[in-house]
Amino acid sequence: MTKANGIPDSQSDTLHRRGLMFILSSPSGAGKTTIARKLLTADNEIKLSVSATTRAPREGEVDGVHYHFVPDAEFDRMVDDDDFYEWAHVFGNRYGTPKGHIRNALKEGQDFLFDIDWQGTQQLYQKDQQDTVSVFILPPSIAALRERLEGRGTDAPDIIDARMERAKAEISHWAEYDYVVINDDLDDCFHKVSEILHAERMRRTRQTGLIPFVRELTE
Ligand code: 5GP
Repeated sequence: MTKANGIPDSQSDTLHRRGLMFILSSPSGAGKTTIARKLLTADNEIKLSVSATTRAPREGEVDGVHYHFVPDAEFDRMVDDDDFYEWAHVFGNRYGTPKGHIRNALKEGQDFLFDIDWQGTQQLYQKDQQDTVSVFILPPSIAALRERLEGRGTDAPDIIDARMERAKAEISHWAEYDYVVINDDLDDCFHKVSEILHAERMRRTRQTGLIPFVRELTE
C-alpha cells in the first residue's frame, strides 16, 4: 500500500528511488566472488546480473545461477542480435551482460550486482554513467593472491600462471573505479562494500521520491 505522498506504508523511511548498477571488479582470486555472494545473501534489494559466457562450468557452478553457459555459436548469435549491454574477451573466453530487463527494473528501484572486468565496467559507464557505481577490490599482496588462486584447486598450474599475469594487468585499471577496497580481511571488506552500496542508494539524484515528499513537507 502506498500513501498519497508516494511513501510505502511498510517502509515509511524509504522513498522511491532508482536502482543502481553496482559493479565489483578485481583480479581473479581477490575474493570478489565471495563478497558478491555474501552481499546477495545479506541484501534483498540487489540481485545478480547473470552473465553469459562461453567458458565451461567449474565444479559447483549452475547454469542460469552463476552464468548462462552458452556455446560459441549462441554467443555469436547474441552479439549479432544486439542482446548484450556489454561483452568482452576475458582470458580466452567471451563474457557478456545480457540486456534482459535491466533498464526497466532500474526505474522500478531494483539494484543489480555486476561481477565483471574493467572492459565491461568501461562499457557500462559509457552507456549509463548515472546508474553505475564501481568498486575495485585489491588483494593485500601478490603472494596472497597466488595463494588464493592455488588454494581454490580448480585450475591447472599453467592456468594459474596465466591468471597471475592477467591479475597484474587487471590491477592496472584500479584508478578507473569510483571506490577501491583492499581485501585484507573478508568480513571487513564485505562491511566496507556494503557501506558503499548503502550510501550510494541515498544519493539525492537516485531518490526520485524526494520531490513529492519535500513538496508535501513545504506545502
Ligand atoms: P571467471 O571465469 O573467473 O568466472 O571470470 C573471469 C573474469 O570475467 C572475471 O574478471 C569476471 O569479472 C569477468 N566477467 C564475468 N562476467 C562478465 C561479463 O558479463 N562481462 C565482462 N566484461 N566480464 C565478465
